[in-house]
Amino acid sequence: MTATAFALRCRICEHVEEPGPARDCSRCDGPTDVAYDLRALAEVVSRERIAAGPQTLWRYRDLLPAEIGDGTSVAGWTPLVRAEQLSDALDIEVLVKVESSNPTGSYKDRMAALAGAAAVAMELETLCCTSTGNLGDAVAAEAAARGLEAIVLAPDGGIGLRRARALGAQVIAIDGGYDECRALERSLAALYRWGFVTGNLSPYAVEGAKTISFEIVEQLGWRMPDAVVCAVWSGALLAKIAQGLHELRAVGLIAEPPPRLYGAQATEAARLAAAYAEDRPLSQSPWVDVDSAFADLAIGAARASGGGLVAVGEERIAGYTELLAETTGIAVDDAGGVALGALVESVRSGRVRRGERVVLVVSGSIPEERADGIATIPADLGALLAELGAA
Ligand SMILES: [Zn+2]
Repeated sequence: MTATAFALRCRICEHVEEPGPARDCSRCDGPTDVAYDLRALAEVVSRERIAAGPQTLWRYRDLLPAEIGDGTSVAGWTPLVRAEQLSDALDIEVLVKVESSNPTGSYKDRMAALAGAAAVAMELETLCCTSTGNLGDAVAAEAAARGLEAIVLAPDGGIGLRRARALGAQVIAIDGGYDECRALERSLAALYRWGFVTGNLSPYAVEGAKTISFEIVEQLGWRMPDAVVCAVWSGALLAKIAQGLHELRAVGLIAEPPPRLYGAQATEAARLAAAYAEDRPLSQSPWVDVDSAFADLAIGAARASGGGLVAVGEERIAGYTELLAETTGIAVDDAGGVALGALVESVRSGRVRRGERVVLVVSGSIPEERADGIATIPADLGALLAELGAA
C-alpha cells in the first residue's frame, strides 16, 4: 500500500474536496490543484524506495495522484546529459534534460501518463484533448497503452498528428482556432463522460510535469543545480517544476536550497515576461486567457527562487535552436531554442555566473508538415457530433 492519499484544493478559496473528474472548485469555480499530506508522505518516501521503482516517472508514484498500477506508461526518466561544447563556450556547466526522449517526443507524455492513470481510476473510457501536435501524440500513446479511446481536436486545420493517428486516435481537424476547440470540448463535456486532459483531468495531468524536477535532483545524485531554465507558455511547466522542488524538501528527500528558476519566452509571445517585467499579476494583464491559471504561479515561482522570466528576440530563436542541435546532437522545436537563448543571454547579463551548474530543459520534436488525409470540419458542435458518429 502506498501513501498516495490526496485531495483537490481550490487555489482561490482553499476549499478541499474529494478527487474526481473536475478542474474547477465546486464552491467558487476557481482552479484546483492536487494537494498531498506531505507530513504523512515524509514517513513513507525514501531515496531507496524511489531507486527500487521502475525507470519511468512511476518511480515517484508516492508523490503522484495515482492509485492504480504503473507499468503501462513508459514516460519519464529521460536523460540528463552534460553539453560539453556549450559548457566550454559559456564557462558554466550546462546539463540538458532531454525531454524529447519521452515516448512521443515531449514532456506532454508525462501529463498524458497522469491523465491516463486518473481516467482509469475514475472509470472514464475516452481521453480527449485539443492539440496541434505534442499533446495529441502523447494522449494517443497513453490511450493506446491503457486500452482507452483517444479523440484529438486539431485547431486551424491542424498539422498532421500522423503519429497520433498511427496510435489509433481519432483526429478531427477543426476549421477554427484553439479557443473554439476548447469551447467544443466544453460542449462535449456536457454530453459525454469523457476525460479532458486540459479540462476535467487537468489537475492530475499537470502533476506529471513536476517529475522533471524529481529526476533532475535524483540524476544529480540528490543534489540541487544552481539554476534551471525552461521555455514557458502557459506557465504550468515552470510552476510544476517549482512545486516538485518544494515537495522534495518538504518530504525530507533533500535539504539543499532550491535552484533559481528561469522561464524563457519568445518576445512575440512574451506575456509572462512582460507581466514579470512590469511587476503585476497576469490576471490584471490584457493577455489573460482561459489557460493562464498557471501564469501567476510561474511568475511567483521564478521571482521567489531568485530567477526570472526572460524574453528572447524572435529573430534570434532559429539560430539558438540550430546552435543547440549542432553542439549537443539534440534536435528539438523552437521552444528549445528559446530556452537556450534565455540561458546564453542570462550568462551575458551576469544573472548566471561563471562555474554555475545549470539545467536546460528542452522538449518537443521538430514539427511535422501539415498532413493530408484528414478533412477539416467547421467549428460547430453539430458537425463535430456527426464526425464522431456513435463515439
Ligand atoms: Zn474555491
